[in-house]
Amino acid sequence: MPHRYPAPSYDRGENVCVIGAGASGLLATKNLVQHGFGVDCYERETGVGGLWNWKHDRSPVYASAHLISSRAGTELPDFPMPDAWPDYPHHRQVLSYLEHYTEHFGLRRHIWFGTEVSRVRPAGGGRWDVITHSTGGGTERTHRYAAVVVANGHHWFPKLPAYPGLDSFAGEVIHARAFSDPAALRGRRVLVVGAGNTGCDIAVEAAQRAAACWHSSRRGYWYLPKYLFGRPVDQVNERVLALRLPLRVRQWLFARTLRLVVGDLTRFGLPAPDHRVYETHPLVNSQLVYYLGHGRITPVPDVARFHPDAVELADGSTITPDLVVLATGYLPRFEFLDAGLLDIDQTGRPHLRLHAFSRHPTLAVAGLLQPDAGVLPLVHWQTVAIARWLRLRQVDPDRAAGWWAGLDRQRGPWTAARTRESTRHWFEVDHRHYQRALRRVLDGLEAR
Ligand SMILES: Cc1cc2nc3c(=O)[nH]c(=O)nc-3n(C[C@H](O)[C@H](O)[C@H](O)COP(=O)(O)OP(=O)(O)OC[C@H]3O[C@@H](n4cnc5c(N)ncnc54)[C@H](O)[C@@H]3O)c2cc1C
Repeated sequence: MPHRYPAPSYDRGENVCVIGAGASGLLATKNLVQHGFGVDCYERETGVGGLWNWKHDRSPVYASAHLISSRAGTELPDFPMPDAWPDYPHHRQVLSYLEHYTEHFGLRRHIWFGTEVSRVRPAGGGRWDVITHSTGGGTERTHRYAAVVVANGHHWFPKLPAYPGLDSFAGEVIHARAFSDPAALRGRRVLVVGAGNTGCDIAVEAAQRAAACWHSSRRGYWYLPKYLFGRPVDQVNERVLALRLPLRVRQWLFARTLRLVVGDLTRFGLPAPDHRVYETHPLVNSQLVYYLGHGRITPVPDVARFHPDAVELADGSTITPDLVVLATGYLPRFEFLDAGLLDIDQTGRPHLRLHAFSRHPTLAVAGLLQPDAGVLPLVHWQTVAIARWLRLRQVDPDRAAGWWAGLDRQRGPWTAARTRESTRHWFEVDHRHYQRALRRVLDGLEAR
């Protein structure tokens, strides 16, 4: 038998490995570089931008997708979006923004495109062996790093409900990740399952093109219009937050405003919300109500089971779609790491301090957040915190040890209202609460 030599491990010294060149990986790379680190960022696709890069097969972005957080609430503190851009930029603009960010901060030279990380394992002494291979195949390489920042995104792996009879259904069933071109809906009888932001967007697309559109939601929600009083809804919310009113007062105020501006949605056949405003992730869609009112979308309850030629609903009625789009969300996946490293429980949920710091001082995750506002500004400060922490470990180990011991005191959930227990809310944060927690962390890590 031929002797097999162990693959060599290239020691990258004090360099940090970043996994993914989506928005979070780009922010992590830039902030680590600005804190003096050498960075190798591995990206399995051929371009930056992650899910906003619609040219990649795995992108869940569909042709009509626009931001649902406003430009002002999404742009980065050190890299504003152009003033001439609309309040809610199109997804191509978001990609262009991230590409310009990459060029502006000279990040491209740190990124290894077409390179997938297949394994990350502890190499002793807080260091990590990162095993990569080129996306098209090829041999594996192992590089050893002083630290790893995981920025692999959490909108790639479809969450698929197990419906009885689904296999026997004669129609087409796809997950929303596979939906990209609204033309695919033309003339079809479409059932959209799920009332998240994606489900609402796809139902609106179907309303304009399909022969029929049913929209199935399990419960009633608060549907926010994109504009209130002529301003983007998140900017109005920002002003209300600035008043520092108690949560109950804010909930009352917002619910009252929605009743006045949007009205009573049970008139259109939607169930009434069974929770207060802010207790579920915000749904922002101005067109859904419009198309409900025009009879182009028929709201229906949860799916009970599939039959070969029909779908049975929870109220016992049946409908006859020929295309079912499961807009049922995504699950986080960290297949290149042993579950214990991120304290991933049996449901697949990782448990991290501040949704970012694992129990291992040199292993962090960036972007694992689901905020009530634009996520990028939060990830910016999150990755500054990670970079500052890694720097402090090097320059002042004693102070670093004290800071690390105190990190456990930063307990979540960083939401003002109690959110519903569901995978959708695993990483839900109220941006103001989370920002405050990050500020405390950043103050503690500041150079003295
Ligand atoms: C339809 C939709 C609409 C959204 N709208 C908004 C919005 O309006 N406002 C907002 O703030 N947020 C929005 N988001 C949230 C969005 O997730 C964030 O804006 C942000 O883009 C997430 O960036 P990320 O880098 O964390 O993840 P991703 O963009 O998913 O990037 C992860 C990257 O990691 C790479 N990768 C993964 N695994 C590996 C591996 N093993 N090896 C190498 N590379 C790997 C992937 O190829 C990808 O490039 C939306 C999300 C979706 C799905």
